[in-house]
Amino acid sequence: MQTQSSGSYITKDLILGINRLWSQTDGGVFDSLECPSCHHRSVSIWFTHPRADQYRTWFICKQCRLEARFINSGPPKNYTEARINEHLQAHDSECLARARFPWPPR
Ligand SMILES: [Zn+2]
Repeated sequence: MQTQSSGSYITKDLILGINRLWSQTDGGVFDSLECPSCHHRSVSIWFTHPRADQYRTWFICKQCRLEARFINSGPPKNYTEARINEHLQAHDSECLARARFPWPPR
């Protein structure tokens, strides 16, 4: 998991909060989730599918600078192309293209 937030460090509470958000993806709720950083109901969940076998789940807060990304081992539960964020997908595609070592085969 990679995270960025408005603070200069990641706290244990923040990690626990992001893990709680992660567990909520199973419920099919994609918007207005409580942010573990600013506590507004302003987190949205987005997916990317930058390569045939690559999936990512992003958590983006509209109120603060919280961004968290999970690298999934397969399609996330409740994955839907309707929630693909093209901007984030371009970012993930660029990261994979710049990777020094190839992604291990499955
Ligand atoms: Zn926030």
